[in-house]
Amino acid sequence: MVENTVATGATYTVPGPGGALFEPVIGLEVHVELNTKSKIFCSCAAAFGAEPNSQVCPVCMGLPGSLPVLNRAVVEYAMKAALALNCRIQPFSQFHRKNYFYPDLPKAYQVSQYDYPLATGGFIEIDVNGSKKRIGIKRLHLEEDAGKLLHEGAIDQASFSLVDFNRCGVPLIEIVSEPDVSSPEEARSYLQALKSILQYTGVSDCKMEEGSLRVDANVSVRPAGSATFGTRTELKNVGSFRSVVRGLEYEIKRQVEVVSSGGEVVQETRHWDEPRGITVSLRGKEEAHDYRYFPEPDLVPLSVDDAWVEQIRGTLPELPEARKRRFVESYGLPEYDASVLTVSPRMADFFEDCVRAYGTDAGKPKTVSNWVMGEVTRFLNVNDIEIEQAKVTPAHISGLLKLIDDGTISGKIAKSIFDEMCETGETPGDLVKRKGLVQISDEGELERLVLKAIEDNPKVAQDFKSGKSAALGFLVGQVMKATRGRASPEAVNRLLKQHLG
Ligand SMILES: [Zn+2]
Repeated sequence: MVENTVATGATYTVPGPGGALFEPVIGLEVHVELNTKSKIFCSCAAAFGAEPNSQVCPVCMGLPGSLPVLNRAVVEYAMKAALALNCRIQPFSQFHRKNYFYPDLPKAYQVSQYDYPLATGGFIEIDVNGSKKRIGIKRLHLEEDAGKLLHEGAIDQASFSLVDFNRCGVPLIEIVSEPDVSSPEEARSYLQALKSILQYTGVSDCKMEEGSLRVDANVSVRPAGSATFGTRTELKNVGSFRSVVRGLEYEIKRQVEVVSSGGEVVQETRHWDEPRGITVSLRGKEEAHDYRYFPEPDLVPLSVDDAWVEQIRGTLPELPEARKRRFVESYGLPEYDASVLTVSPRMADFFEDCVRAYGTDAGKPKTVSNWVMGEVTRFLNVNDIEIEQAKVTPAHISGLLKLIDDGTISGKIAKSIFDEMCETGETPGDLVKRKGLVQISDEGELERLVLKAIEDNPKVAQDFKSGKSAALGFLVGQVMKATRGRASPEAVNRLLKQHLG
């Protein structure tokens, strides 16, 4: 196995065993479930997590005599996503039947768009080593989801499969990129940007763990600098962005080895086995003719006029890039803060609500940003929850910052009660009172504690006097301990120096 991956500048290359450099060509296909209330061709609920087979009807099961009716909201959601991704909405698009047999597909065909997709020719911009790179979007089309197979225990040990058809007919958009992605990290940036844009438009929650965002990655390798494509393989349904990166890294090295040793890459679908850290062959790649596509006879072609497109364009919210620029310009935030805070619309909303509650004077938005990117994010990560699941509100954050500003508590105390505030939703004022954490502002009392610390530690005090400035930290620590952190470190430092001077 080739061990070293070299990333120089914007070019990602992998050396073969003979030393020749190879570069990957990556294209991504992303399936996204739209969060419309009902399914694409019937009025069944499309919600995730219901009792198995409780959201099915003859239409989404494809029973004889049933007829699909296209859900207008699905088209509008897809148009909104397409416009946010800079695509052109096609005035004419058409549904086809993609025929194949699989136990989760009771109709034995999936209704999808084939040679006339809803939208084409978009792009997403990603950051690559500090500059912008444009990744083209070839097409965005509509289709229906299939059901889901469930197994008791491990899939290779289960003696039977259970089928949940609730997902049949849940609306999907498939977003196909151009093969413009040149490294696994670029793939991650593209997916992160795509997810962010889709979440901003509100068309999907993009929860990978619930399958509402699923990634297939096509990858081939070629000698560095070559213009021709190698034979590609497809990694199917990778479960997280991290797995996409790891799976691609593995697959690129595998292909480089095959090609370098004179072999040929076989066009096939492969599965990324996360626990084992390898890709395994699933099946030979289907060609389009294997699916015997033909126009769906029960649905008329879809036509979209300019007025409809413009009406939907008018509903587009401020998108991540625009919001990032505004955070830099109107709040004076560093680029970095602005890009972190605007990745998810809910975190960006939370930040802005905090700023509204706390104030927009110079420096205040940056203070809020530090807390949101620091303590808030840490709390969410540790507890593995989203911001809306925490009990902390913008009023809590602003209340806490105001208590620091007016000297009631130190920043350290604020951090020490932060988690409890987020968990219980108790106001910072109440928490500080109940726990007796009000900062000691009585100079006399502080002075008494400072003198006691000096008296109790004559050796350390002497060390400081004889020039060991680090000794001061110990004495400050003693006073902070005695006050359970309720003293202002600045005041303690000042008083200590005064008495040891
Ligand atoms: Zn149905």
